[in-house]
Amino acid sequence: MESTYQVWQASWNATESRLEKLAKRAAKLGMTITWSLGAWTPAVVGYERDVDGMIAIPKVPIYANQATATLTGETPKLPGGWTLVGVIELLEGNVLLRNVPGETMPVLYRDAARATLCEHCNAKRNRTATFVVRDEAGAHKQVGRQCLADFLGHVDPHALIAGAELLLDLNDCMSSAGEWDEEGGGSRERRLWATSRVAAISAACVRVDGWCSRKNAEIYEKRATAENVIEVLMPPKFSYRTEADREFLEAHEVTDADTAEAETAIEWGKALEGVTDYEYNLSVVCRAEYIEFKHVGILASLISAYQRHMGQQRKRAAETSTFQGEVGKRAVYTLKVEHTQDFESNYGLRVMNRMRDEHGNLFVWWSSGERLEVGNTYTGKATVKAHEEYKGRKQTTLTRFKAACVAGKVWDDALSGLMEVGSEAAA
Ligand SMILES: [Zn+2]
Repeated sequence: MESTYQVWQASWNATESRLEKLAKRAAKLGMTITWSLGAWTPAVVGYERDVDGMIAIPKVPIYANQATATLTGETPKLPGGWTLVGVIELLEGNVLLRNVPGETMPVLYRDAARATLCEHCNAKRNRTATFVVRDEAGAHKQVGRQCLADFLGHVDPHALIAGAELLLDLNDCMSSAGEWDEEGGGSRERRLWATSRVAAISAACVRVDGWCSRKNAEIYEKRATAENVIEVLMPPKFSYRTEADREFLEAHEVTDADTAEAETAIEWGKALEGVTDYEYNLSVVCRAEYIEFKHVGILASLISAYQRHMGQQRKRAAETSTFQGEVGKRAVYTLKVEHTQDFESNYGLRVMNRMRDEHGNLFVWWSSGERLEVGNTYTGKATVKAHEEYKGRKQTTLTRFKAACVAGKVWDDALSGLMEVGSEAAA
């Protein structure tokens, strides 16, 4: 006997321990059972479903690792050259066919009307199981359990039935290893996802909610992008979905633009040189066609890494800052704060406030403690102290900036909308 089965990696451990038990049972009956396994390869287990629980259009496959398992065994020959093919069972009036490994049951045995027939005694009885055997010429015969020993010519009925049961159990065991069990073996740890799909979902999530790392999610009590990606990848089962779940899924639906952005980002990721460990890992994940659950997190970060990279490139390309005003002259400036940074010096705390005017020209004002609010816009008089270049960018350094906040995303009522900024850092 040699028979092959397609089995899922998800349930293989459980299958193998069942096989070990069956092999022990076989040994007691004088049978030898062995098995071997081919290479794991991604195969489609199902399709993603949309908010209504229907298979999404276009169909998005879900993958898992599958391999070909080969079952080999030496089974005792039945007397008279007969081979056991399988057993016919009745389940609520319908025929259930249980095959011996490697055998197929002729279609006529699916007929419930003849399921309890015995071709040995030609009687229909209320049986739970009827055996199907095949002779060397390929002719099939259906024999009731009670008649089997008699039909084959006085063999030990108990050993015969035990051997038959074992073969049927072996086939059941291997067949069920080929069925995808969504509840048990189908857990997310055992699935594979197309890299392009996870990246596209990440793009949708970043587009809708902005990027949030797992670390920042903890600090700011927000949802991490990776969590949202997982939610879209593996939404609750349709019947358990709340209104909020459906709204979430609808809001995070992947668009063609997301898919296109993901493709470009993957190409960028593949080419990363891997200066840091993070970059190295990201490039490895981008080069894989399918990823495991544990890699969803790093792939979820691809889009934001790519966008940051593109942003830097755009910034470099768009850097048009020129020197403003005349050194030593005082004038009115309206500036939006881009960045602030504290520096400890011999003179105490100095704060570097970096700002831009509406044309993108860079300004820097060093204060002794006053920190302007990033994102707010201030208008006021300042004296140009110097025209300097920093990292290849032209910046106008200001002094004595007396300004009031005129627009801001963060309003502080205590400041009543007007903040006088006064003292300056020691030069
Ligand atoms: Zn009979």
